[in-house]
Amino acid sequence: MTVLVVATGNPGKVTEFSAYLKDTPWELQPKPADLDVVETGKTFAENAALKATTVAQATGHWAIADDSGLAVRALNGAPGLYSARYGLDDNNRIRRVLFELQEFDDRYAEFLCAIAVARPDGSIAIAVEGVCPGEIVEPEGVGGFGYDPIFYVPAAGKTFAAMPKEEKRRYSHRGRAIADLLPKLNRLI
Ligand code: IMP
Repeated sequence: MTVLVVATGNPGKVTEFSAYLKDTPWELQPKPADLDVVETGKTFAENAALKATTVAQATGHWAIADDSGLAVRALNGAPGLYSARYGLDDNNRIRRVLFELQEFDDRYAEFLCAIAVARPDGSIAIAVEGVCPGEIVEPEGVGGFGYDPIFYVPAAGKTFAAMPKEEKRRYSHRGRAIADLLPKLNRLI
């Protein structure tokens, strides 16, 4: 087993990646608690690469990082890179998006997810992205997290929050990025 450090301070993400990569020859480990990376990138891909490179160089191991968010067309791509910081909590962030969209008929939005894997020297070995097109609607459903209740996927006929986990993985930006990542990751070692 080769160690792959998950470059996030969020224990939920370590669990999530462990589930996605459970049938691969990688041993996932959390990053050192005192190692923080400031997300200064201008895109999700830049931030994912920055986090993976920094953590790989600091630990001397392979590292994996992701960055994701919601881009609403009528709001010029907001909340975008600021998705996690668009309000004090999930409810607040949802209210803010709905409020800002009030005057617009255009409800199109996309969830985006970028994932990067860095070699122990910090160079990027894999970079993938996943996109899920959808529409912003009034909250519906009780599952998931973040903006899930207001993100409706026309292809599924429901919001992310109304989908069982497996279904969300099939449609979601993260699920799509992971599907692209897995064969590439398995070819690395
Ligand atoms: P990060 O990738 O940890 O920086 O998180 C970005 C933010 O985007 C999260 O805090 C959520 O607010 C939002 N987000 C990312 N992916 C999802 C998703 O699948 N559902 C709902 N919200 C999401």
